[in-house]
Amino acid sequence: MGATARLVPYPADTVRRYRSAGLWGTRTIGAELHHIAGQRASHPAVVAADGALTYADLDEVTDRLALGLADAGPAPGDRVVVQLTNRLQSIVAWYGMVKAGLIPVCTLAAHRAHEIGAISRKVGAVAHLVEWSQSGFDLVAFAVEQQAGHPTMRLVLTTGAPAGTPGTSIERLADTDPGLARKRVEAIQAAIDPDDVACFQLSGGTTGVPKIIPRLHAEYWYNARSYAEAGGWDENTRVAHLIPIIHNAGITCGLHAAHSVGGTLVLGTPVLDQALPLVARERTTDVLIGHGHFGIVDHPLFDEAMASMKRVVLSGAKVPERVFEAFENRGVWVGQKFGMGEGFFAMSTAASTREARLTTVGVPVSPYDEFRVLEPGTETEVPDGTVGELACRGPYTIRGYFDAPDINASAFTSDGFYRTGDLVAVRTVGGERSISVEGRIKDLINRGGEKVSAEEVELLLMRHPRIVAAAVVAMPDERLGERACAYLVTTGEPLTMSEIQEHLSSLSLAKFKWPERLEWVPELPKTPVGKLDKKLLQRDIAAKVSRGR
Ligand code: AMP
Repeated sequence: MGATARLVPYPADTVRRYRSAGLWGTRTIGAELHHIAGQRASHPAVVAADGALTYADLDEVTDRLALGLADAGPAPGDRVVVQLTNRLQSIVAWYGMVKAGLIPVCTLAAHRAHEIGAISRKVGAVAHLVEWSQSGFDLVAFAVEQQAGHPTMRLVLTTGAPAGTPGTSIERLADTDPGLARKRVEAIQAAIDPDDVACFQLSGGTTGVPKIIPRLHAEYWYNARSYAEAGGWDENTRVAHLIPIIHNAGITCGLHAAHSVGGTLVLGTPVLDQALPLVARERTTDVLIGHGHFGIVDHPLFDEAMASMKRVVLSGAKVPERVFEAFENRGVWVGQKFGMGEGFFAMSTAASTREARLTTVGVPVSPYDEFRVLEPGTETEVPDGTVGELACRGPYTIRGYFDAPDINASAFTSDGFYRTGDLVAVRTVGGERSISVEGRIKDLINRGGEKVSAEEVELLLMRHPRIVAAAVVAMPDERLGERACAYLVTTGEPLTMSEIQEHLSSLSLAKFKWPERLEWVPELPKTPVGKLDKKLLQRDIAAKVSRGR
């Protein structure tokens, strides 16, 4: 079955409406970069700790890489599993792939065989792009290993690797003639429809393996542009991004949003000691801070990093007033953002009152966004002020996961609203009908922004011969917001944490999903109707944590 049959399209009349309203453009993402590079040639497009590129340089090197990639075998439409961190070459790789018509599959560098094996088979990936690094986990060896017995995987691509490393280096692939490269890219791009898939993102899922989110060229670029517009950005904006760039927030709020206005991406890394000197040196004006980084306000370089900052957007969890005030006290406008790989973004606006910016995540970024708050499990809307499940539809919200008809049947309403699994209430604050996040009904742990599916970990835990029942719940954590805690029932003596870790490691589960606390219980609690009572376990662990036990 071809990719198209596994996609749920936007209705044709809706597409026409979005396009005639000027939301969806007619260019692919590769063509968008080339277009803006024509206007902003000598302006810095990206500045990272390991180098910088002007728009003209970025456009040229990504053309050259696209030609190299096209000559190396993968054809337009082929999927490339990507495991990269925040380096300059990751940006080159991104645009190089899309210019070659390849579809990046945005996994994390922290993912291991459990995730990568399933995802890359599901999308029929032909290439696996990884970065080389001197220390830590050997992603190159991992990619080579993953190729064995894979039905479609043909090529391991590397970046930053010294000569002699296995795989094909994208730096060497980019060693092509710029004139020929431009011609080839133009030919490839001419054959791509702006409503074709540009990339696959992964859902912060609740299922055994992550669900795959198809994002299309025109709507994905519009998502970024509407975020930039909502933030009041222009070509002088210098936006820092500190969380993984090859992730939805990274690509949308960092890379594409900066480039949609001809601004500069200041590409930091999650390690504040490294990122903040760059943020300060590059006179950064804007930054999105995920809740894993709320501690930035206590960092010794905080004042320096805020010296040129105009706006800070906080995201991922309820915002403590102390954190909010720390930014305000440095003269920075501070607001909130709520968003997801599936699409829908809400954000504070320039007109939002302080109370709205402190207590809500604001309003949808596009006037064409639609949302409803539903009584969970139904299609019945609840009145403003009542907590219900947020469901949304609009010019950059998917109509279905890739190749997942059964999941789509319950993840979307009958008229195509995506059920987010988030509990919200609508409150009118300072005249704005704003969204307040009140919790969630989806079964996941939000560990500093990285989502961990409880079910995925439970199924793997139960593959241990001595574990008969497992329930993974969110445990409050000051630094990361939440961590995973596993309630376990065993047939014999409780296992040690290191035995559990060895078990999960043997199943190649990414480390950030491993439970960080174990609670051994004689049996798991049940609700009156006989369902697992996770709420009780959540209250139990929250009480234990708050008592310091
Ligand atoms: P992802 O697709 O990984 O970006 O995850 C999206 C999910 O993160 C949402 O559905 C929410 O559950 C959560 N999320 C995102 N932004 C916020 C926020 N500002 N406050 C609370 N939860 C959030």
